[in-house]
Amino acid sequence: MYLCDIHTHTLVSHDSHAPLEQQAAAAVAAGLNELCVTDHCDLLSGHGEPVTSFNWPAAKEQYHQARSRFAGRLDLRLGIELGAAPYDPKIARAILAEGGGEVDFVLGSLHNWIGEEGNIDLFYTRFAGDPDLCRRAVENALTNSWTLVTELADCYDSLAHINYPLRYIHRDGMELTLWDFEDRVRPILTEVAKTGHALEVNTRHGLDLADWPRILKWYRECGGELVTVGSDAHKPEHVAKGIPEALAIVKAAGFDSITTYRGRRPVTHRL
Ligand SMILES: [Zn+2]
Ligand SMILES: [Zn+2]
Repeated sequence: MYLCDIHTHTLVSHDSHAPLEQQAAAAVAAGLNELCVTDHCDLLSGHGEPVTSFNWPAAKEQYHQARSRFAGRLDLRLGIELGAAPYDPKIARAILAEGGGEVDFVLGSLHNWIGEEGNIDLFYTRFAGDPDLCRRAVENALTNSWTLVTELADCYDSLAHINYPLRYIHRDGMELTLWDFEDRVRPILTEVAKTGHALEVNTRHGLDLADWPRILKWYRECGGELVTVGSDAHKPEHVAKGIPEALAIVKAAGFDSITTYRGRRPVTHRL
């Protein structure tokens, strides 16, 4: 089986201290064939301020160094996790253009509220005791996911962690699932499939595996073919966590391949 983890972070992200070399060494130790680094570039900061640039020089410098150091042992790829693209499509496109032809992979994410709650990252929202706020968070994320997949198809390759709001809703002890939002989720999955994009199975370093069989079933029914997997590791001990399990879930859902990206083009590997 082709072991790949194509959602990982390094010290180029605001919330990681790990040099890429450490992440790559962990990937080799875990037996991965391929690792893609996808550092955060959210067009809104955690507290809702606009962000207009990404530190490509820092990302590329460590990428070039690690790539030569791990040549022959690991297929290392350069990606980006572009968050909140619907907030400012012009800036999103400018940042991707600045990355140039060296960029292998773009994960499309939504971490922030957009147009509500001061545009903060859902991480900072306190959901305890407020079921209405929980529902609004999921609806806001799905509205912006719809905008991403219908109007900004060039700004992502794989749609990242569609269940992101649930991380913090559940953290705060509230009960909510995506299952009540099926009529909002299915059109998004259909659009992802129709436009030749991929859906990400995000293991959140092994913690989030339970939702994926049902989401993948919907995705397949919506015509989905391309699936990517990522651990979302922010430290070496989390690299590849949950990836073998995720690949088994993808296979059990009826998919016969897993997808990685080279120069923003999908490459499929048989499961
Ligand atoms: Zn993310
Ligand atoms: Zn991430």
